[in-house]
Amino acid sequence: MQVSIACTEQNLRSRSSEDRLCGPRPGPGGGNGGPVGGGHGNPPGGGGSGPKARAALVPRPPAPAGALRESTGRGTGMKYRNLGKSGLRVSCLGLGTWVTFGSQISDETAEDVLTVAYEHGVNLFDTAEVYAAGKAERTLGNILKSKGWRRSSYVITTKIFWGGQAETERGLSRKHIIEGLQGSLDRLQLGYVDIVFANRSDPNSPMEEIVRAMTYVINQGLALYWGTSRWGAAEIMEAYSMARQFNLIPPVCEQAEHHLFQREKVEMQLPELYHKIGVGSVTWSPLSCGLITSKYDGQVPDTCRATIKGYQWLKDKVQSEGSKKQQAKVLDLLPIAHQLGCTVAQLAIAWCLRSEGVSSVLLGVSSAEQLLEHLGALQVLSQLTPQTVMEIDGLLGNKPHTKK
Ligand code: NAP
Repeated sequence: MQVSIACTEQNLRSRSSEDRLCGPRPGPGGGNGGPVGGGHGNPPGGGGSGPKARAALVPRPPAPAGALRESTGRGTGMKYRNLGKSGLRVSCLGLGTWVTFGSQISDETAEDVLTVAYEHGVNLFDTAEVYAAGKAERTLGNILKSKGWRRSSYVITTKIFWGGQAETERGLSRKHIIEGLQGSLDRLQLGYVDIVFANRSDPNSPMEEIVRAMTYVINQGLALYWGTSRWGAAEIMEAYSMARQFNLIPPVCEQAEHHLFQREKVEMQLPELYHKIGVGSVTWSPLSCGLITSKYDGQVPDTCRATIKGYQWLKDKVQSEGSKKQQAKVLDLLPIAHQLGCTVAQLAIAWCLRSEGVSSVLLGVSSAEQLLEHLGALQVLSQLTPQTVMEIDGLLGNKPHTKK
């Protein structure tokens, strides 16, 4: 059982409650992004505080010796964290391929982006069978092949759920998990992925079948770990319990949306899972598809993803009243960004990085320039004090509060 050992309940119970990825983490390269006070979650999709809000991120003392620690890459300054409470060390900034690879950007740009990422210490690359109908995986695979980087030096994640038009090519049946992953590996030209994600929960597939199929693909060497994406906390707990009951392999992390306007799940639900069963978070859309960059400002620039065929929903979202209010709040953040000497995008990404239990924040970029800008968030993280976070909460209309 190569994976589950890190997450056994007994193992977790024996660890101190301070055994957390967040909190002051004086890694070899110096401390950074410590605890923050007063996060106040918003209801999904909402901008302000909500009645469901219960918990918050509160300052806590330094992690004790032996706790999972962040480390810093020599020469790059990249920070590495454990994926949940597994032993896998991932860069706290990962690179995603949604919208961009095999679609919005050319293969040359994709190669530039991947090269800049790898050379700056990013070791986590995320894709999915559904991205650009498989072309994202093909593009990623071609670049990895041409680069010849050691396979052991990076982590590839893919997600399974929508593989094709046939009824049997979708969902999380044993058949589609096994065949879908095999298809992904063919396109990626890889023998295994590091993490395979179930890209949605599937009410049509029994949980035992899903967990058994994930265990099977890991035991076959097609994947090293498995995780969930967009699953509810109760579903993740069910998968974990199922794994424990039948001596199968439990998930190690959940992929969840997290940004200034989407907070509740990552800040209030997932930390509990992290502490209890070792499931961490890999978060996505830190800029809410580019909305948290101040570039929209009521307009839709010609060169952004909202103008691509098939992304009318994003254009509609940008032009919606709710989004305009959010964009106004983003502009309110400019003085804080100026004070820190950074852009709003960097501030927003650093803000995501400080959340408890977050192993990695997946970035999306349509150019190497955007990526270079985002990598600067690591510097911003080291300056992000609890006071600054409270100031941001205040501007967003969130009041700091503590867990009851
Ligand atoms: P995002 O950071 O919210 O949006 C990225 C987009 O914002 C870029 O492609 C770019 O688009 C724009 N942008 C980025 N930096 C900018 C800057 N400095 N200035 C102006 N515009 C900028 O991230 P995302 O692409 O939505 O998500 C990141 C990754 O998370 C995905 O690639 C995917 O791997 C993963 N993901 C997972 C799920 C899931 O269900 N598990 C869902 C969504 C995403 P334009 O230049 O075109 O405007």
